[in-house]
Amino acid sequence: MASQTILQKLEILADAAKYDASCASSGTAKKSSLGSAKGIGSTEGMGICHAYAPDGRCISLLKILLTNHCVFDCHYCVNRKSSNVARARFTPQEVVDLTLAFYRRNYIEGLFLSSGIVKNSNHTMEQIVEVARILREEHDFRGYIHLKTIPEAEAEIVHQAGLYADRVSINVELPTDAGLTRLAPDKDARQIEGAMGKVRSDLAEAKDAKKRFRHAPRFAPAGQSTQMIVGADAATDADIVGKASRLYDNFRLRRVYYSAFSPIPDASAVLPLKRPPLIREHRLYQSDWLMRFYGYKPAEVMQATEADGNLPLDIDPKLAWALKFRDSFPVDVNRATKEQLLRVPGLGVKAVHKILASRRHRTLRLDDVARLTLSITKVRPFICTVDWRPLTLTDRADLRSLLAPKTEQLELFAA
Ligand code: SF4
Repeated sequence: MASQTILQKLEILADAAKYDASCASSGTAKKSSLGSAKGIGSTEGMGICHAYAPDGRCISLLKILLTNHCVFDCHYCVNRKSSNVARARFTPQEVVDLTLAFYRRNYIEGLFLSSGIVKNSNHTMEQIVEVARILREEHDFRGYIHLKTIPEAEAEIVHQAGLYADRVSINVELPTDAGLTRLAPDKDARQIEGAMGKVRSDLAEAKDAKKRFRHAPRFAPAGQSTQMIVGADAATDADIVGKASRLYDNFRLRRVYYSAFSPIPDASAVLPLKRPPLIREHRLYQSDWLMRFYGYKPAEVMQATEADGNLPLDIDPKLAWALKFRDSFPVDVNRATKEQLLRVPGLGVKAVHKILASRRHRTLRLDDVARLTLSITKVRPFICTVDWRPLTLTDRADLRSLLAPKTEQLELFAA
């Protein structure tokens, strides 16, 4: 370990962080200075990910672990103590130096920092907080900081994290308590939710204080989020949707991230051998959007699942719901409420707003709607316009096969 260079540690700890989806990350290969005299500048394989800032901007983050040593033994995790992987550990100062070096070179706009648990939860959490403290207090770092917090750590240390970070997150890990007990034997569902509840009340108090005192300390202004692993246990999509909805309600989460379980090197025997299809993760994100932006209740999203409790993979959940509840269609584009229009497969939120704005001045025709959507074929069975009625199309027995995408390519949500 003593002989590891910063670059070697970065390779190990950026790679180990890639399994965490809760910064909405995606890989990048923007720039590389590998092979030149200055090696640390590479963004390839070095943990640069993308996330969305509270104001909607897409920003690049350095996504790394403080260490991949861990005293816990979560079966689904490549860093668990029984896993035979190369280990590394940064000091807080090394993470600070890396963050500043990347930041000054314009490679990143912030830091996403997580960690395995080394020694104990409090010690690890203190080290994570120390990184953020040095960045904020000693370097006046104004970039975005997302800290993964450890539910087993004392609440006061987690609170400190929120004082320095823009966003904090606590992974709920698995959709059911039974799954957590089986696959993460050192973790406790009540402790995780207790920690999320404490962050929620800290957020509310900080918001309240800000209203009363201009200089009240900020606390995680970008809120808290969580991540659930999909496909590592027997939980169905209905279970996952139900859990996500309770988390949104109980803890006012900004986001629930879904991470399709991916087989890891040196995998535990209790895990499935195969990863779930990636499209399953995509369908769960679509169902999440239905609840957050389209006015669907969790029970309604669950109605879109099939007999096995999972969302169909060949069509999106909004179309699945519409096909099951055809008596709610067709809706008249020129008279329907916003809520009714949002239920039309193929009409996104922006398209619905444009329809509502345009119809104040004129009566809409099918061509007008077609200009607002990528696929009028998907929309037609579910709407009426002044020049279009679907007649028997809405009730055709083969409508699903007519509308299902012909390839396995991911489609844009509600396009
Ligand atoms: S606590 Fe569990 S999930 Fe987190 S790093 Fe350790 S083994 Fe992995």
